[in-house]
Amino acid sequence: MNILFFGPNGSGKGTQGAILKDKYNTPHIESGAIFRDNISKGTELGTKAKEYIDKGDLVPDEITIPMILDRLKQDDCKKGWLLDGFPRNKNQAIKLDESLKKADMGLDIVVEILLDREIAKNRIMGRRLCVNDNNHPNNIFIDAIKPDGDKCRVCGAELKTRADDQDEDAINKRHDIYYDDNTGTLASAYYFKDLAEKEGKVKYITLDGAPGVKDVTDDLISKL
Ligand code: AMP
Repeated sequence: MNILFFGPNGSGKGTQGAILKDKYNTPHIESGAIFRDNISKGTELGTKAKEYIDKGDLVPDEITIPMILDRLKQDDCKKGWLLDGFPRNKNQAIKLDESLKKADMGLDIVVEILLDREIAKNRIMGRRLCVNDNNHPNNIFIDAIKPDGDKCRVCGAELKTRADDQDEDAINKRHDIYYDDNTGTLASAYYFKDLAEKEGKVKYITLDGAPGVKDVTDDLISKL
């Protein structure tokens, strides 16, 4: 199963993505996580990406597009993949579409989580990352996934915040990019929505991201 996952930063994309990953047993490819991994390892890619990430800007396409397209060619992606955080603009969508067609690789499902911008912003600022496992959801503003004191609610590990999650200007910039349906991330989602309508092979699923995690998950499962 080849899946694309869209949703504004703060919409619970990571949480729902983990559910899809388990259901279809595919690698969960998160562009943002690949960058963060490179930053923590001090690679050249990480150093270049950091200056953009810290400001809430997109890492340039010349870096991001080959990084993701190469990742999709790795062996573990032969059984399918779940792509999260890419494409993020219309150019990336076009390049991904071209590359998939060239590799004779089909897209099966596109998921778009809908969420009001103000709610998404609060959720980002409340997000806490588990140092043991990034997929352990913790958020001080969401009752269902409130940390256990100041520790991870799943495994009890230390929690930290992402620097770009606490900077309001950076969050606003990230959301400007996401909600831009002309050239930004929504434009890239709609690019695949149009394809889904034209070609009829791709299932395009929209989810209301406002309810609690479990309700969104139930909605997702019922629509798959
Ligand atoms: P995320 O974890 O998805 O919020 O991504 C964190 C940051 O990584 C973003 O704010 C961007 O700076 C960068 N990034 C992630 N995915 C992309 C992408 N597809 N294109 C360009 N930059 C990206």
